[in-house]
Amino acid sequence: MTDKDSFQKFMFETLQIRGEWVRLNDSFFSSVRNKNYPPEINRLVGETALASVLLTGTLKFEGLLSIHARGQGSVSLLMSEARHDKTFRCLANYDESAALTSSNLLDLIGSAQLAITIDPDKGKRYQGIVPLERAQISECLEHYFELSEQLDTYFLFQVTEQGAHGLMLQKLPEYRNIEDQDAWNRILQLAKTLTPEEFSCEDNQTLITRLFHEEQVLLFEKESVQFQCSCSEERSLASVKALGQQEALEILEDEPVISIDCQFCGEQYEFDRTAINTLFSAGMTH
Ligand SMILES: [Zn+2]
Repeated sequence: MTDKDSFQKFMFETLQIRGEWVRLNDSFFSSVRNKNYPPEINRLVGETALASVLLTGTLKFEGLLSIHARGQGSVSLLMSEARHDKTFRCLANYDESAALTSSNLLDLIGSAQLAITIDPDKGKRYQGIVPLERAQISECLEHYFELSEQLDTYFLFQVTEQGAHGLMLQKLPEYRNIEDQDAWNRILQLAKTLTPEEFSCEDNQTLITRLFHEEQVLLFEKESVQFQCSCSEERSLASVKALGQQEALEILEDEPVISIDCQFCGEQYEFDRTAINTLFSAGMTH
């Protein structure tokens, strides 16, 4: 298997259609390590992670892009965050006692909204929201782009034992000016023939040659993708501070330390009475 843990853009040179490949292999296995997700949840988390990394390809600045779906079904939260440098982290919260018999997103998550938040390192945060009304995450995202940008977009997600693999195709606004108005449907039909075996075994260049051999395609430089958690001792302390001094001290009456576990990576941060006293006394001086 080649092109593991990578992101790569491509472009149909004369058709005003752009594309992106993403492959999450070891990076995905690291991000779900120790989580023991059932297969259905694992697939949803994988698809959400693929989507977040693919969507960073549309960012024109440095920053964070996150996808959240909060529902009332067996799955209460599905989320993934990715940065412009192609690092990501993802998770799902779900009812472990529920029988997950459906692969339909709506059955698993119930009535929900899909929120896409773009948080530039410098600049204003932007959020777009669509109701989850489609059976698959890929279809919800296609709907999102249709509503928000009026751009036809196609997502293909495959989560297998080899990893999570995704393809995105998007019409550029200039598409309407080209003569070959059948191009989008033609490219889509070809893309839909891609099998999980091919996606796992072949590199991006081979897939392009195989699927789109009659088209002129420009393949851009490959970027590596990594699982990376942004949790830290400092951020955990900030969440203790948000609890307030009184509540923090109440916890310490029953426990020797205040323990904060990162839901994304499992890292555990512990703060004893000395650390808590320092935290709140430092706060007083400001
Ligand atoms: Zn973490």
